[in-house]
Amino acid sequence: MTRFIVAALVLGAVYLVLLLVHPVHRCPSCKGRRSVAHGKSRRPCKRCKTTGRTYRPGSIMAHRLVRDHAFPWIRDRIRDRIAARTGDDR
Ligand SMILES: [Zn+2]
Repeated sequence: MTRFIVAALVLGAVYLVLLLVHPVHRCPSCKGRRSVAHGKSRRPCKRCKTTGRTYRPGSIMAHRLVRDHAFPWIRDRIRDRIAARTGDDR
């Protein structure tokens, strides 16, 4: 039983790191194709709003936690990404 708890904690930690490094993944509904088959035609995927990517469960919460309390290197990384996306790093 104790071994099971340790395994669950380890898996949780691995998943948390995965969330922080890769918060988005391919949309499971349209498999990244951005539209879903509907009868003979295809229609835009509602789940990812046609981006083909969705946030992993818990990733928004994990990033909020990190932003508020945790590791400075992850915070810097997030800040760099936001700066790169918006073009504010000049
Ligand atoms: Zn989708």
